[in-house]
Amino acid sequence: MSKKIRVRFAPSPTGGLHLGGVRTVLYNYLFAKKHQGHFILRIEDTDQSRYVAGAEEYIFSCLQWAGLEPDESPLHGGKYGPYRQSERKDNYRHYAEKLVNDGHAYYAFDTPEELDRMRHDFKTEQNPSPQYDHSIRMKMRNSLTLHAEDSKKMLEAGTAHVIRIKMPGSETVSFTDMIRGEVSFDTSVVDDKVLLKADGMPTYHLAVVVDDYLMKISHAFRGEEWLPSAPVHILLWKYLFGLENMPQWAHLPLILGPNGKLSKRDGAKYGFPVFAMNWIDPVSKELTEGFKEKGFLPEAFINLLALLGWNDGTEQEIFSKEELIEKFSIERVHSGGAKFDYEKAKWFNHEWIKRSTSSSLQGPVKILLIQDGIDNINEVILSKVIGLVRDRCTLLTDFVQQSSFFFRAPDKYDLDAVKSKWNDDKKKFFQSFTKELNAIDNWESAFIEDGFKKLAAIQNIKPGELQLPFRIMLVGGKFGPPVFDIAAVLGKTEAIARISKALEVFAG
Ligand code: GLU
Repeated sequence: MSKKIRVRFAPSPTGGLHLGGVRTVLYNYLFAKKHQGHFILRIEDTDQSRYVAGAEEYIFSCLQWAGLEPDESPLHGGKYGPYRQSERKDNYRHYAEKLVNDGHAYYAFDTPEELDRMRHDFKTEQNPSPQYDHSIRMKMRNSLTLHAEDSKKMLEAGTAHVIRIKMPGSETVSFTDMIRGEVSFDTSVVDDKVLLKADGMPTYHLAVVVDDYLMKISHAFRGEEWLPSAPVHILLWKYLFGLENMPQWAHLPLILGPNGKLSKRDGAKYGFPVFAMNWIDPVSKELTEGFKEKGFLPEAFINLLALLGWNDGTEQEIFSKEELIEKFSIERVHSGGAKFDYEKAKWFNHEWIKRSTSSSLQGPVKILLIQDGIDNINEVILSKVIGLVRDRCTLLTDFVQQSSFFFRAPDKYDLDAVKSKWNDDKKKFFQSFTKELNAIDNWESAFIEDGFKKLAAIQNIKPGELQLPFRIMLVGGKFGPPVFDIAAVLGKTEAIARISKALEVFAG
């Protein structure tokens, strides 16, 4: 590829970032890095009525958490800025007027009432929702139907107007999508989209084309929901800049949930996250859960996202970001919808937790433990604990249950698990065992286990029958890593104290 690779993610700041949005980011990012190109984040905020406070900051935080930082953005700067379309307002009118002058667009003066009347008057059984298109435009109030002089006067008088594209009545617009191959559209079914609004702001259609041109975008990868808009964008490219400068397009497949397109509602109904991070709607205060807070590692998150619609042609499933950069190709993205499976998503996280070093997990686990009310965390012990319990944790949040007892003695015991088999012999065993433990100089798991088994043999009790009560004494419940390892990490004094306290509770 000789042309410098420049790709963009162009979100409208209208709310939280959905899985599909982050996957679009990821594929753009991987493609850019693979080809030593640039990944640009452009905020498409020209529709002020849909602007949601905080959404832009949220997008930046998500990308930072996922490790998908742009090379150019409103935050990172770059020589093609500004990267917020509302700050580029002055660029667009010129292009819209050029289209009018070249006969590809026109001024439309219709009032909202006139538009309503059009929708009502032209409604037929075959055409229940008439659009402003080639069949209707000549019946409306615009610069195609008014005398040139009248249009001019109205413009000079500052009459409210929009600029609309003049879609050809019957033309076929085709392009090659990098995922779908040749795609064709019949222009007669596409309406005359507004390009410039009455407030002087461009609509998405004009702004996306102008900015992709000005920012020298080489490839535009976006969600499949934008495919129906492609003929408008392609015609704008043709009329304004010539098709040879146009980016190569790829429309990414939908992400499917249990019932069709994955939605926020699916997440709420089935209890899984669909956003990258927690999003609290500033108006409704409704919280939509995020992968981060649910306990996903960013490494696992991008790995599972990459495979929602792509594979490298082998059975490999675990990929680091570096490997993804090396192996990713847009041509291997499937055109069919990709099914999201939460159980599989958790599997990826478990695999990444197992592969992570204790030191890399230490920060996030410590935060979770502090949130759980534990404030006496010794870093050396925490590192040992993580090593011991890591394989048992699917989500980072599982570390709380799996490791908090190391720092906080149980105040409740799963008595049902011990009671039926508890007897005086066992009580005596543990009383003697505390003395044994006291005498151990080398406080290591193997020596503790050895002492335990020898004493059990002397007292003629099966060690298997003693291990569960021992675990309940140290942990409070029937979970956690091997019990002798737990005792070793707890230390002699603490282990003995826990046995003594539990013996009192069991007696009662
Ligand atoms: N602003 C559009 C969005 O919100 C971008 C679509 C595109 O990438 O062309 O998704």
